[in-house]
Amino acid sequence: MDEKTEKWRVKAACQGLDPSIFYPADDDEEQIAVAKGVCAVCPVADECLEHALGSREREGVWGGATERERRRIVRQRRRAAYAAAARRSA
Ligand code: SF4
Repeated sequence: MDEKTEKWRVKAACQGLDPSIFYPADDDEEQIAVAKGVCAVCPVADECLEHALGSREREGVWGGATERERRRIVRQRRRAAYAAAARRSA
């Protein structure tokens, strides 16, 4: 773990909790809600989400987002970047 990641992780609301909470089955809405409930009160959720997006974490709930939700965020950001580039070149 790099120093930057280490800094936000010490403030994580999930510190000391069973990590399996954050790796529910894709269709286990109840467990997903439990994980998201912890993330909802986490002071470093933004950092956590950006870390997961940047390192392409494939599994688990990070920053309150499931893998499917993170893929959607990546697609939205990519579309926004393309649109911005198109506007600049127009
Ligand atoms: S956002 Fe969720 S998974 Fe990320 S550090 Fe906070 S509690 Fe843990």
